[in-house]
Amino acid sequence: MAKPTLIVIGAGVAGLTCALELAERGIAVEVVERGRALGEGSCSWMAGGMLAPWCERATTEPEVADWGAPSIDWWAGRFPGTVRRGSLVVAQPRDLPDLTRFAQRTERFEWVDAERLAGLEPDLAGRFRRALYFPDEAHLDPRRALAALAARLQERGVAIRFGVEAAPSDVPADIVVDCRGLAARDALPDLRGVRGEMVVVRAPDISLQRPVRLLHPRIPLYIVPRADGLFMIGATMIESERRGPVSVRSAVELLNAAYTLHPAFGEAEIVELGADLRPAFPDNLPSVRQSGRVLHANGLFRHGFLLAPALARRVAESVLSMLQSETPHEDLPQRRRA
Ligand SMILES: Cc1cc2nc3c(=O)[nH]c(=O)nc-3n(C[C@H](O)[C@H](O)[C@H](O)COP(=O)(O)OP(=O)(O)OC[C@H]3O[C@@H](n4cnc5c(N)ncnc54)[C@H](O)[C@@H]3O)c2cc1C
Repeated sequence: MAKPTLIVIGAGVAGLTCALELAERGIAVEVVERGRALGEGSCSWMAGGMLAPWCERATTEPEVADWGAPSIDWWAGRFPGTVRRGSLVVAQPRDLPDLTRFAQRTERFEWVDAERLAGLEPDLAGRFRRALYFPDEAHLDPRRALAALAARLQERGVAIRFGVEAAPSDVPADIVVDCRGLAARDALPDLRGVRGEMVVVRAPDISLQRPVRLLHPRIPLYIVPRADGLFMIGATMIESERRGPVSVRSAVELLNAAYTLHPAFGEAEIVELGADLRPAFPDNLPSVRQSGRVLHANGLFRHGFLLAPALARRVAESVLSMLQSETPHEDLPQRRRA
């Protein structure tokens, strides 16, 4: 019998993690991507790269922490640039009640005082009285992480064909994994875009070891350190499908937050302003849906890097059972209902 053919459409974080998970299970796979290079047209290129399941728990469903926690090991095992130094949440004195509320809604953190905060992040010495420290969280540079996944796929002989626009129904393969992100709305009508904007700055005078969230009455803001003195400041979350450049209001709010965290950000150079639409289902949780020979893996919302490994595992399990039987599948992952 001929070997079954399997094509993944889309080389964002969903497509690359699915392809790697399948390849690691010995399934022959190929990736097609309409962009001409990695990241072109991909929402994943704009991500902050926080692997913060317990921080996210403060504002999301329990599934995000349950599915996201194992992804830290998944990334660390495949991308050596995964940084496991935890993350911090701080608030200005007037917003300290928000910090307490944040703590009440989550777990796996320690309260730290100003002295301990200064030990963790010397550049924040004297700037905040209290903070929450999540020692088990991690972060990565999404662009480097995607490149590392692509390299791993290449090592395994998996081709990524760039500049190929594909429609799941027309792809000549036995099984198609549709990881087109928001472009899959033609097949997934309940998928919506949630606009996110970010700024990358270069601030060589500031050193941070880990992502820092600044609680803010209007938008949740975070700063993620990257190599070479770069920091990603993100991210707005706007229920709008407007594409196009970052608005002045968002840029001001993001940069103000950075300045509030440390005035030396006032001297930073703006390297990049970016915006994209996060693909989200109505419950903001990812899902794998089967339609004939097509598996639609989507809905990563603001948890692309955090939840992609769990999504990929579900895809691989579905593919294996599709190869073994003709039994129809339910939506995956199975959702916990209240
Ligand atoms: C500002 C911002 C900050 C964020 N911060 C974080 C964060 O800190 N942590 C986190 O985990 N997540 C974060 N996210 C969310 C994360 O970026 C998304 O959840 C994730 O990128 C979605 O991945 P995806 O692979 O489904 O979609 P995409 O990355 O958009 O990938 C889809 C790919 O499919 C390709 N494609 C589309 N149509 C076709 C076609 N017809 N043929 C071939 N190829 C096609 C596209 O070109 C694209 O490359 C952030 C998002 C934004 C915007």
